[in-house]
Amino acid sequence: MIVGAGPTGLFAAYYAGFRGLSMAVVDSLPEAGGQVTAMYPEKMIYDVGGFPAVRGRDLVKGLVEQAAPWNPRYLLGRKAEGLRSADSGLEILLDGGDVVRAGAVLITAGIGEFTPRPLPAGDGWLGRGMVHFVPALDAHAGQDVVVVGGGDSAFDWVLALHPVAASVTLVHRRAKFRAADSIVREAQRLGVRMITDAEVSEMRAGESGELSEITVQPKGSDALVLPAQTVVAALGFTADLGPIENWGLEIDHRAIAVDSKMATARERVYAAGDVASYPGKVKLIATGFGEAATAVNNIAVALDPDAHLFPGHSSNVE
Ligand SMILES: Cc1cc2nc3c(=O)[nH]c(=O)nc-3n(C[C@H](O)[C@H](O)[C@H](O)COP(=O)(O)OP(=O)(O)OC[C@H]3O[C@@H](n4cnc5c(N)ncnc54)[C@H](O)[C@@H]3O)c2cc1C
Repeated sequence: MIVGAGPTGLFAAYYAGFRGLSMAVVDSLPEAGGQVTAMYPEKMIYDVGGFPAVRGRDLVKGLVEQAAPWNPRYLLGRKAEGLRSADSGLEILLDGGDVVRAGAVLITAGIGEFTPRPLPAGDGWLGRGMVHFVPALDAHAGQDVVVVGGGDSAFDWVLALHPVAASVTLVHRRAKFRAADSIVREAQRLGVRMITDAEVSEMRAGESGELSEITVQPKGSDALVLPAQTVVAALGFTADLGPIENWGLEIDHRAIAVDSKMATARERVYAAGDVASYPGKVKLIATGFGEAATAVNNIAVALDPDAHLFPGHSSNVE
């Protein structure tokens, strides 16, 4: 069982398949890709081996494709809440009460579960026109989209949606943006409408029941009504290890202490990626990939003491 479908968990799913293990991958987000999907899918990444430059979204797509031949069972939109020992191995308790049995657990929970910062006027609109991130740009082709926020993610969505949407408007509650100057300038160059010192005060559905327009209230002036089929609430995320802190593991600075096998303090429970802590740790996608390979190969031996630690070379497999 892999807890977390970020880059590390996805690569671990490939590796588990390569080692002949079956696996389920649980993630509380509705899409795979962890921080990359949630925070920077449109950014180029320059420090993943073998890719001089790769867009976040494309890296995640490649990882999902790489694992696909081994048929990982994805449990997306589900949170791993509990871990207990059972006669047959381990049991992971999911929100909603389901229990998944596993011989070993690999925790690749990154910086923890993301909780999007709420947009007060968007209460009840999630999935009915309001989103916190955009898994598929095409879904917004021809729409009027309003992006709320003033940081890098908000501007990334503005720039990504601009070529596909009918209109993109940015609404930010302050006069100054937190985003990098270069992307703010690019949005200005493209003529994106930016309404600052203003908040979305109401969202309304049309006859179809879908979101159709919003009211924006600037400070000290009259309210504006904008057409909107989608509101992207890009107000940032908080991240929290949450229930994992109570799984009987050694927690070190909001991460899980591991040894050189990526084993935690609990038998058959391993950790890799941003969530794993050891002296000299560097939190990067590249290190997460290496740790995933180390963890899964050690899990293979823990599950079958006759198995070799070294997996053989993938290049020798037809
Ligand atoms: C803006 C930004 C830019 C970055 N740029 C780079 C870069 O250029 N190069 C680089 O190498 N790194 C970069 N990073 C860091 C990189 O994204 C992380 O190192 C990487 O995502 C870690 O992968 P991971 O799979 O270990 O964890 P994450 O990507 O954090 O994935 C963990 C997953 O676990 C899930 N999860 C957590 N708890 C639970 C639970 N209880 N139940 C179910 N699911 C759970 C979360 O929802 C999440 O999807 C960047 C990070 C940010 C924020």
